[in-house]
Amino acid sequence: MNRPAVPPQDYSVNPFIVIWEVTRACALKCLHCRAEAQYRADPNQLSPEEGKALIDRIALMNPPLLVFTGGDPLMRPDLFELARYAIEEKGLSVSMTPSATPRVTHSAVEKAKEVGLSRWAFSLDGSCAEIHDHFRGTPGSFDTTLRGIGYLQELGIPIQINTTVSRYNLQDLQAIAERVKQMGAVLWSLFFLVPTGRAAQKDMIDADEHEAVLRWLYETGQRMPYGVKATEAPHYRRVATQMAQEKTHTASQKLSDLPKTAPPGFKRTDVLGRAPKGVNDGDGFLFISHVGDVYPSGFLPLRCGNVREQALEDIYRESDIMRNLRDKSQLKGKCGVCEYKRLCGGSRARAYAVTGDYLASDPVCAYIPQVWRGEQET
Ligand code: SF4
Repeated sequence: MNRPAVPPQDYSVNPFIVIWEVTRACALKCLHCRAEAQYRADPNQLSPEEGKALIDRIALMNPPLLVFTGGDPLMRPDLFELARYAIEEKGLSVSMTPSATPRVTHSAVEKAKEVGLSRWAFSLDGSCAEIHDHFRGTPGSFDTTLRGIGYLQELGIPIQINTTVSRYNLQDLQAIAERVKQMGAVLWSLFFLVPTGRAAQKDMIDADEHEAVLRWLYETGQRMPYGVKATEAPHYRRVATQMAQEKTHTASQKLSDLPKTAPPGFKRTDVLGRAPKGVNDGDGFLFISHVGDVYPSGFLPLRCGNVREQALEDIYRESDIMRNLRDKSQLKGKCGVCEYKRLCGGSRARAYAVTGDYLASDPVCAYIPQVWRGEQET
């Protein structure tokens, strides 16, 4: 089948990134686990043959970046064969998010290197063992993470650090940012907690705290050698736009004094490019569960179809839920009238988790749209 000739930024046709939960099996018991992972794999999870067939479908969709998540991907015995198939035979860029357990061995990291993994992501939810291990529900997880990062550094695999932002680590973010720098990561990805799975609403930071963290994150991204990314906080794009405008305004009289670009070599090389425009649940972003159910994201539990019954691309392009999510005119409340709705659109997963309506306003955005302030949209 020929690939459709569409621009990469047309998310109504193809996603930018596909997350596949290759298994739900995991040895950890993280407080906020989206998947409510279990120790044993579900006997109904996609088989090796079904996994390859799924990769075939994914490769037809432009193709997007592919992320193997879990559970713990390393609990899947055919993980590296699936990765090899996706990379060597289908030309996909593959990264994965293994749990920090004794399965992260030097030999596992060597296999990842051999098959050409683009990036390995570890979770780091605290700058020290006390905070991180509490969050992960497993003593020793912090030390295991550091050991795994050592293997990645030794073998030259690009490192991504994922941090779930919650009440547990709000005061520790600055220290984590420094740790991420020491680890030599190319990307720090912050997940803003969505109260789904094992994550409770009381653990979520409030709107003003989100605003403060997002502003701080923008500044951090400017001065650190790694890139930063916000997941389930699309209002980061609104904050970044506002802060860039503020800076231009403040600096306008002395613009000639400013360097035109970052110094050469300042940012660590990231082989995986960034999205041509912001992604949101079901809008450039697609999630496939361990049994083949398709969702707009792993945090938005609205089943749109199953790859055992329907082609993946048809589910992504035609499902009513996916289409509604891409149609920003359907947003309600504050997000519906916001002048940033096409750039941002709010976290659809959080709107659903808190209100039961996936088109409602994101409840943790502090911004008041212009029309609510009685100003005209420009
Ligand atoms: S009101 Fe909604 S669309 Fe506007 S910035 Fe906030 S979350 Fe984004």
